[in-house]
Amino acid sequence: MTMIGILGAGQLGRMLALAGYPLGLHFRFFDSASDSPASLFAEQITADYADTSALDRFAVGLDLVTYEFENVSVDAVRYLERSAPVYPPSIALEKGQDRFHEKSFFRELGIPTAEFSLETESISFPSVLKTRRMGYDGKGQAVLSSQADIYNEEVSELLVQQDLIVEEFIPFDRELSIISARSKTGEMVFYPLTKNQHRDGILRLSIVDGTISSQLQKQAEEYATAVMNALNYVGVLAIEFFEKDGQLLANEMAPRVHNSGHWTIDGAVTSQFENHLRAITDAPLGSTSPLGVCAMVNLIGIIPDMKSILKIEGAHLHLYDKAPRPKRKVGHVTFVEKDVETLQKKLDQLKEIYDI
Ligand code: AMP
Repeated sequence: MTMIGILGAGQLGRMLALAGYPLGLHFRFFDSASDSPASLFAEQITADYADTSALDRFAVGLDLVTYEFENVSVDAVRYLERSAPVYPPSIALEKGQDRFHEKSFFRELGIPTAEFSLETESISFPSVLKTRRMGYDGKGQAVLSSQADIYNEEVSELLVQQDLIVEEFIPFDRELSIISARSKTGEMVFYPLTKNQHRDGILRLSIVDGTISSQLQKQAEEYATAVMNALNYVGVLAIEFFEKDGQLLANEMAPRVHNSGHWTIDGAVTSQFENHLRAITDAPLGSTSPLGVCAMVNLIGIIPDMKSILKIEGAHLHLYDKAPRPKRKVGHVTFVEKDVETLQKKLDQLKEIYDI
């Protein structure tokens, strides 16, 4: 029996467990919150990440450890490394947790990014001010159109926090992400680039419809390969890009399964969750081929009437057992269709009951 410890018991942990049980894998979770989406699925240790006696209890009998969110404490991961292998390696976590280190790392590898600086005055307007750490889903950032914006309330709140990075604002044509997996032997697989639409900094819609050029796909795979090889990476990695004039600019990476890969549960031969588990357990990686044209819609802040969603033929509904709150991801709906027109019809049907 392989026992996997997962740091974080949110919906990503829950979907990892859902993918792992058919493979005979067993799980234990660690989270600082008790009413977590994964807690129904396996034992959970609820404690602060700094509580080493709780980490010891968590580690008993674990064959390996992984994590499902990137703001997990690096100290906790380092501590656990003494009792079981941790994948992805903690170096990936460290790079991903600090936007300045992350972007500097992209630059070292020759991967284009938006111009960035720690000097808030040194990037021309418009620019984007972001906290270096702990930012996610658009939290901890503000767009500056001119010098005058420095005095607005949102920006003043950020400026008090000091640890900031300023980036060139990219008027991108679209946002894309690549989900890749690498095993211990260096075997790598890549899912097709996913087109992502955000609102208020939060992902709302991901589409995989076979319209991405092979040249762009190849470029993204080369960048992902460079990142994974440099980190001796094991597991699933997501990289988010802006596309501008046919060029990819890396925005950020996440050393974990990613929201823009949720379509793979219903829409790919092997889901990102299964491939993450295959990679960390040293099993062969599975095919990333899509099963059709796919769309994944995040349910944010509200859960629309479930029966109305299920009435749409082909709707795959995933709920996370989370109470709806503004800006909170509570579930998602995936469609896998034979062509773009049918996919659009399904999305139009969903739009009648949910504001995508
Ligand atoms: P992030 O937290 O960096 O993923 O940013 C969340 C979202 O804000 C991105 O998905 C973009 O839609 C937008 N955004 C972030 N940085 C920039 C930028 N430098 N230029 C334009 N839009 C940005």
